[in-house]
Amino acid sequence: MKDRQTKRMLDDIESEVRYTRKMIGKDAFAKKVMKAMANVPRNEFVPNSYRDAAFNNGPLPIGHGQTISQPYIVALMTDMLEIEDDDTILEIGTGSGYQTAIIAELCKQVYTIEYIPALADMAKARLQRLGYDNIEAISGNGYDGWPEHAPYDGIIVTAAASHIPKPLIEQLKPGGRLVIPVGRPHLYQELTLVEKDEAGEITIKEVLGVAFVPLQGERNEYI
Ligand code: SAH
Repeated sequence: MKDRQTKRMLDDIESEVRYTRKMIGKDAFAKKVMKAMANVPRNEFVPNSYRDAAFNNGPLPIGHGQTISQPYIVALMTDMLEIEDDDTILEIGTGSGYQTAIIAELCKQVYTIEYIPALADMAKARLQRLGYDNIEAISGNGYDGWPEHAPYDGIIVTAAASHIPKPLIEQLKPGGRLVIPVGRPHLYQELTLVEKDEAGEITIKEVLGVAFVPLQGERNEYI
């Protein structure tokens, strides 16, 4: 039953990739990204009342006014990071911990920060129960990043920012990638890829229109 639902979710992601291929510039996500999407049981990350919809290709409420992102978007953001086995990744906006688990399947270590303490506690317990030992999760304001473990090979922000937070750029390794929705909170944002080259130069690409819940606690340090 669950295998069939997972298969349907993967098929739905693949058809949306084809539908959006002009925007995202590819016909398929990396095989290892799809394998991670197949491995992580999304039903474990949604409230009981939404278990029936757990494998649908759409966002779902997770309480506290927040949502677990749509599977296609989770796969897209993961694919954009181009994660390698040895990478250390920072995630801002743990939420349910679903995106965290997908990333943890693909890299050495994930550090994740969640603004709402109750969600942070729930995600932490869930990820521990599922056996992930390469995730460190805390509650705090991810706008500031997590300087202790910087620099990061990749940074992912799963809440809508009005601008690209300067601390996150600073905590990105040369050669690193930052994926972040930038635009108007509650309305429309552009999923944005920020690349830092070996010389520390930044390039910014807008990839796709998206709608995320707002990033809290912005400090308006424009880059
Ligand atoms: N990736 C999550 C998405 C959760 S929604 C999932 O798949 O479940 C975005 C999350 O970002 C919310 O839980 C919200 O509380 C959190 N958030 C908002 N602003 C934040 C901030 N400044 N620092 C850390 N987390 C933040």
